[in-house]
Amino acid sequence: MFVVMARTASEAEILGVKGAILGEGLTPYDHTGAERTVIAVIGEIGQRKNELSARLGGLPGVESVTPISRPFKLTSREFHPESTVIRVLDATIGDGSLTVMAGPCSVESRDQLFATADAVAAAGATVLRGGAFKPRTSPYSFQGLGVEALRDLADARDRTGLPVITEVMEPNQVDIVAEYADILQVGTRNMQNFSLLMAVGRVTRPVMLKRGFSATVEEWLMAAEYIVSSGNPNVILCERGIRTFETYTRNTLDLSAVPLLRQLTHLPVIVDPSHATGKRWLVAPLAIGGVAVGADGVMVEVHPDPDSALSDAEQQLTFDQFREMMAQLVPVHEQVRDHRAAAMADPVAVGDGGGLGRH
Ligand code: PEP
Ligand code: MN
Repeated sequence: MFVVMARTASEAEILGVKGAILGEGLTPYDHTGAERTVIAVIGEIGQRKNELSARLGGLPGVESVTPISRPFKLTSREFHPESTVIRVLDATIGDGSLTVMAGPCSVESRDQLFATADAVAAAGATVLRGGAFKPRTSPYSFQGLGVEALRDLADARDRTGLPVITEVMEPNQVDIVAEYADILQVGTRNMQNFSLLMAVGRVTRPVMLKRGFSATVEEWLMAAEYIVSSGNPNVILCERGIRTFETYTRNTLDLSAVPLLRQLTHLPVIVDPSHATGKRWLVAPLAIGGVAVGADGVMVEVHPDPDSALSDAEQQLTFDQFREMMAQLVPVHEQVRDHRAAAMADPVAVGDGGGLGRH
């Protein structure tokens, strides 16, 4: 449930409500919008629901108490109707502008990274990506250059002005990755690594949480809830394809998740057509599809010579292909932008995701 404070509520009244919530052994999370403060009540409320709601509703400065119907609370639009907007260096994610995260799958050398960074920046990318610690299916595959790659990414940021995003695979890497990177990425294989989610929840850098390749939308939002409830409100969701029976593509890009998430959550949504398809020629059409259905942007892999890449060679774009994709993407984004804002002003009844007990 969440407590809606009156517009006129004083600081002392807000503190009084938070104190009452703490007194119940529950945790208050406040969120101050343009006009008023709302305070979510988080924890096992169980049988106390009606009694607690009446008690909090009677406190000074309280306007109303509203239940949150979804299992995810802080990430739900019910609690937080305005979209989350994340600002990092000159990039703004979630404000209706087009975010384009681009760069190599793995940082392979300083020259490879700088050449790619210069090319994607010139073509309109807003965030530079590059893997330093790589989650590889085979232990014999290239595992990434680690801290050396983090240093190169930081230098590439200084060179281009673009914020950098890179994956963090373990809780004990969070501090070092946060020292060099502007946005931390949690990969598909780690979506339910709860200790990692809590660790990235304790830093100030924004986090991009990729969808687990066999996770439902609800499980994904519960994973985001771990990060937000640990103290980090700046979470970006990335749909990167789920595993289905189809084998022509590496994964199946679930584009329906994008408009669905718009209704369920206030967090920005990015689509990754590179890992979704695994095929270079499918990247641009699905990037366009992602933006057309309302994503805040895309993440794509770009390499100076994709065929020689040390990871994900088949799906990385050449510089020319990236430029062509951008030329197609920008007009599509302009067309859907106003339409998307109008759709958000008119929420729909989404229905039930099946519940957490299903899996
Ligand atoms: C990546 O973006 O580098 C990556 C490994 O992606 P995913 O976690 O989606 O496989
Ligand atoms: Mn990759």
